[in-house]
Amino acid sequence: MNKKTVKDMDLKGKKVLVRCDFNVPMDENQKITDNTRIVAALPTIQYLLENDCAIILCSHLGRPKGEFKSEYSLKPVAEELAKLLGKEVIMAKDVIGEDAKSKASNLKNGQIMLIENVRFHKEETENDQEFAKELAKMAEIYVNDAFGAAHRAHSSTAGVAEFLPAVSGFLIEKELKFLGKAISNPERPFVAILGGAKVSDKIGVIDSLLEKVDTLIIGGGMAYTFFKAQGYEVGNSICELDKLELATNLMKKAEEKGVKLILPMDTKIGKEYKADTESKTVKYNEIPEGWEGFDIGEESIKLFIEELKKAKTVVWNGPLGLFEFDQFAIGTNEIAKALAKMDCTTIIGGGDSAAAVKKAGLEDKMTHISTGGGASLEFLEGKALPGIECLLNK
Ligand code: AMP
Repeated sequence: MNKKTVKDMDLKGKKVLVRCDFNVPMDENQKITDNTRIVAALPTIQYLLENDCAIILCSHLGRPKGEFKSEYSLKPVAEELAKLLGKEVIMAKDVIGEDAKSKASNLKNGQIMLIENVRFHKEETENDQEFAKELAKMAEIYVNDAFGAAHRAHSSTAGVAEFLPAVSGFLIEKELKFLGKAISNPERPFVAILGGAKVSDKIGVIDSLLEKVDTLIIGGGMAYTFFKAQGYEVGNSICELDKLELATNLMKKAEEKGVKLILPMDTKIGKEYKADTESKTVKYNEIPEGWEGFDIGEESIKLFIEELKKAKTVVWNGPLGLFEFDQFAIGTNEIAKALAKMDCTTIIGGGDSAAAVKKAGLEDKMTHISTGGGASLEFLEGKALPGIECLLNK
């Protein structure tokens, strides 16, 4: 993972194409509701400005499925970015069309432009070579800073690197530093805590983390498949009956590897999938028929926190309950609060767990919150990320 960054290149006065992750949430009036991803791109843009570059930014936004749709325009991003930088951001009307090309060729050093949503062309997600070549023609150097899209082999995240010298920006560099150290050389004890809905989504990451961690804590919807595999009844809880053998094998693997595998002791159950449903807490092996496990209980929270306190490195991915409903967000919130108080390396692997930490206002208390849900999961699984593989080696 020793990839060149913007610091390893002579960028003075160059025209640079930067792939950002501006896939920000917007409301129905195209108003940005969370600008975190735009803010995360600023260090690289500022560095390029200091180096007197002409900067061409690109990104995807949502899934417009290969055609222009005004609700997926990046125009609001250009406006937000201009506000944050206190500087004009020129918006192109298209991606590789007349407008983008002429604006790119007239772009002066120290100026910034943003081309339209790369997914307005279906070629983007097909990693089409010709499309990548057209993007590349606009610049002299390619910088990838879109960690959130680095697990995709698309034209603007990987393909373009075939036609331009390609390096990473500071955001990708930072992600690789923290996630990379956690999986290759963690300070021990190394504890991972995994939640989320399904075992099937997390098999790869559980399997790979069992090679690396000292303790693996499992919560969330996944836990019920493990309970069922041990022969307990789980009522209507989310449970993958076709993954029972797999869960058994993962438990066996943990034992063989000497990894302490910790499952919840108790669970908060509800009658229905509803925010205000009747609820109560029961032992993990006493879930009555007709009830559904939606969160970890107080005993589990205590147990998990005790284990986490022993750690020098913690990686957390996935909420520990149905955290969208307040009464089942307690496990997730308590774990977030406990991690915030800890004096060790705490890495939050994007997605819902990152959202939960932010919602609790605890982001500044964590060592690193990944900007990529899917990308950080694939990285922790040990998979090669195309958006990083394609960059020049140091
Ligand atoms: P994932 O994308 O796999 O990390 O899963 C996140 C989703 O899992 C969130 O929407 C949670 O509400 C959901 N989830 C976590 N625990 C449970 C549970 N016990 N029952 C149902 N859904 C859950």
